[in-house]
Amino acid sequence: MSLSEKGIIDRIRRHSQSGSAELLLGIGDDCAVIKRGRGLVELVTTDTLVEKVHFDLAWHPPELLGRKAAAVNLSDVAAMGGRSRYCLLSLALPLGFAESWLDQFMAGFLAALTEHGALLIGGDTVKSVGGYVISVTVMGEAPEAEILLRSAARPGDLIMVSGPLGNAAAGLEICRRGLGCEKDSWRQLIAAHLDPTPETVLGRILAESGLVNGMMDLSDGLATDLAHLCCESGVAAEIDGGLLPIADNLRDAAEALGCEPMSWALSGGEDYRLLLTVPAVNSEKLQEIVRRELGREIVPVGRIVNGKGVVLIDGAKRLDISYHGYDHFI
Ligand SMILES: [Mg+2]
Repeated sequence: MSLSEKGIIDRIRRHSQSGSAELLLGIGDDCAVIKRGRGLVELVTTDTLVEKVHFDLAWHPPELLGRKAAAVNLSDVAAMGGRSRYCLLSLALPLGFAESWLDQFMAGFLAALTEHGALLIGGDTVKSVGGYVISVTVMGEAPEAEILLRSAARPGDLIMVSGPLGNAAAGLEICRRGLGCEKDSWRQLIAAHLDPTPETVLGRILAESGLVNGMMDLSDGLATDLAHLCCESGVAAEIDGGLLPIADNLRDAAEALGCEPMSWALSGGEDYRLLLTVPAVNSEKLQEIVRRELGREIVPVGRIVNGKGVVLIDGAKRLDISYHGYDHFI
């Protein structure tokens, strides 16, 4: 059997070098963290999108794909509490690609960077003998004292998420079945898959608040991402199934398509919401700040406890759901 995504990362991590005094954090979080002067750190992240693995050109308009390629990286900087600054873009393009595709892709990509304060400064272009491959690196910055790590969750913390879960997975399923925007209420789900919004403003607010312990973004589904966070922090998590924020339009789509809303919410990837852990005593104050600044709510979904793994409490049942999310290698 081939290695899981986590297995591959663990293997690479074992082989990787260490020993730079400036490198505060290497492999294992949303970004690497490098010490700079004046109390600032640099944050660096990279993500690759592969045709037929991460996107399908049959339903992904090039402009929205450009936006998404930027967003998934901007989201990683936001998940550390940082501000994105600079970006590198590498493209592998098949022979005979349409110039108009590239123009529209770049229009979307650059618009998303501009909206979130980042600047394209370089990259690479190569020929692909397969499909399209898009690789993006984003560099950001943050005050060292404010960065939020996956390794900082503590027993007793509340687990919170910054919005409804599973919308992107529902949108993907709607697109896969060629259903397009048959219903108005599905438009939002499709947009969550095609054009996710990175939580750049919220990420900074949470970091500045000083009230949050651990944080990461939700790219592979709550069950998997929370398992990563627990592993890095040496703790366990209990999720209360009744608290999961599942939108009405997601329930509606699940019923129409014969899918399970809870499974989308727990295992669906690519929501790019923030997952954070907050000392219980801070949670009310943090809610007030988020409400005041953004008119939004963050949603408690469970708690951090001693032990290992992620458990879902659903009525009288307790299910181990660690890593029950999207894995590219299984
Ligand atoms: Mg991430």
